[in-house]
Amino acid sequence: MEETESNKSKQPKRKQRNPSEWKREKRKRSIIAGESHISVKGELVLPKKIGADCNCKLKCYKKVDENTRQRLFKGYYSLKTYDEQNAYLFGLIKKQDVKRKKNLESDRRTCTYKYHVRDQGKEIQVCKLAFAHIHAVSFRKIRTLSEKLDQNILFPRDGRGRHNNRPTKVSPTTIEMIKNHIFQVMKSNELKNFLKEDKNKQMTPELNVAKLHTHYLQMYEPDAINMATGKFHVKIAFFI
Ligand SMILES: [Zn+2]
Repeated sequence: MEETESNKSKQPKRKQRNPSEWKREKRKRSIIAGESHISVKGELVLPKKIGADCNCKLKCYKKVDENTRQRLFKGYYSLKTYDEQNAYLFGLIKKQDVKRKKNLESDRRTCTYKYHVRDQGKEIQVCKLAFAHIHAVSFRKIRTLSEKLDQNILFPRDGRGRHNNRPTKVSPTTIEMIKNHIFQVMKSNELKNFLKEDKNKQMTPELNVAKLHTHYLQMYEPDAINMATGKFHVKIAFFI
């Protein structure tokens, strides 16, 4: 039988699996999970592990004991995407604006960052080295995230392999308002109310979009609350 257009569209399209793409996906999953893998250059990369004690004045490894370090490490590597991992770390780095001491007349500001780990809902400040070692991430990664914090980027995203050419249905003004709203929430002490909890009532780095949405409507579009939802069907991913 001759295949018509409509017949064609009914058939499930099976994407041809490309072996090199498959390999890349597998590598990516291993990297995210902190597992050993063969790098692009063909070198064996060993699994991630927690680094040595920072031995600093803050006594980070005393404040964050072995069990907690293990829990944080496992939690981080159980996140399923780069974006989630980045957002998680991002939420634990806080920027502090400091005016340069030596030259008070100068307007130039320099930033310092404070690093934390979050355990059972409590944030504990640690030094940069401990922060890097507990999550087994490089200073370079931390710097990249800190720079995004400097640029007031809300949620860092891994830019690899993304398409920025998807059409949008939400007006730029609305997007701006939503961005500001999220930024306000993130800066406020309310942030924890907008984070999802896992089954053990532990906060996760994931935002509860439904709650944010309702809050946004309460603030900016109270009339829209009774309207059918879906009008503002916006995903966090959309903003980045
Ligand atoms: Zn330390």
